[in-house]
Amino acid sequence: MIYADYNGSAPISDDVKEYLQHRMLEGPFANPNAIHFLGQKVLIGMDNARSVCAKIMGAKFSQLVFNSGATEGCSTVYHSVLGCSVKNNRNLIVTSGIEHSAIRKTGEWYVENRGYEIVTIPTLSNGIIDLENFKEVVKENHDKIALVSIMAANNETGVIQPYMEISKVCQDNNVTNFCDTTQLIGKMPFDFNKSGIDYAIMSGHKVGALTGTGILLAKDKTTLKPLIIGGGQEKGLRGGTQNYIGNETLAVALTAVDKNFDNIQVLTKKREDFESKIKEKFPSVVIIGEDAPRLATSTYLSLPGVHGQAIQIELESMGIFVTTSSACSDNEPVTSKVLKSMGITDDVGRGVVRISVGLCSEPEVYDKIYEALTKAYEKLTQIKSY
Ligand code: PLP
Repeated sequence: MIYADYNGSAPISDDVKEYLQHRMLEGPFANPNAIHFLGQKVLIGMDNARSVCAKIMGAKFSQLVFNSGATEGCSTVYHSVLGCSVKNNRNLIVTSGIEHSAIRKTGEWYVENRGYEIVTIPTLSNGIIDLENFKEVVKENHDKIALVSIMAANNETGVIQPYMEISKVCQDNNVTNFCDTTQLIGKMPFDFNKSGIDYAIMSGHKVGALTGTGILLAKDKTTLKPLIIGGGQEKGLRGGTQNYIGNETLAVALTAVDKNFDNIQVLTKKREDFESKIKEKFPSVVIIGEDAPRLATSTYLSLPGVHGQAIQIELESMGIFVTTSSACSDNEPVTSKVLKSMGITDDVGRGVVRISVGLCSEPEVYDKIYEALTKAYEKLTQIKSY
């Protein structure tokens, strides 16, 4: 079996499994907010995890809030920055057409319910946002912009955005910058404080930790407002007794991925070889975002005329698990919003298959995927799906 849907969810990492076996047997189990000995022991364990996570992501201990994942992180940021109404005439949310639905729909909610307006920066055909257009928009509207919300790495294409440059433009123009780093963290080294970003987010299940865990990083935590008020946990920024074991798995998983960054070069080379071989065999194959900087572990490709879902089913019958686009839009047999914003036509858009492995995957998985994909394409090109 080859699992190639890491961008959807990474399997729980081996280090986390091992950690949990001991953790579950040995304890301690207590409320981290209790002042008795066991409670304090749990709190110390969770704060050690906080230190480890912060250090790996280039943040300070005090800049990190544990939560349930990226969707919650995004909602907290929008709630904190945009609030209940437009303030100081800053009514613009500057975003891109390639954002994950967790971000896109949150922005739309603020337009429908709180009077904000969205300015969408166009995407170039390689999947990168039009940076020049972005610079102009920010320069011209700097005093009207409430929030810039542009992602770091795309979940479908794996294309990495120039997030450091975006951040610099925001800093130079005194504009608040939230960056959805969910797909970048764990797949590329990331340094929060060097990036200059105001808010960044991640989800545990994308990096091999327990699902339902996540982190919000804030340059200045005093700017945050809790979505859940409750009993003042997480220094009043997220009510509810913390998922302390889940939070510990974040530290274990991030430590494991930190070691795997050494594999980036080998995997990138292997992925590029795989993409060249498949294009040589099937010259009409399109690799989405081919000439853009991409995550080492992501390929998004299409053979026009062959339906992506048909390929997915063929690959699954050979024990290879891929998706046709992002998990959330899998049931919609239409060209995804991300691809549309890149100007990708429907004949290409309907054929896409996303292959996303992990930094811990053996490079040889690409040989097996190549063999299986070749078989699937050979079979299905004889029965044109559309
Ligand atoms: N942002 C990006 C880029 C994602 O890929 C995802 C999940 O696929 C999310 C946000 C939302 O993450 P979660 O569902 O873990 O909250």
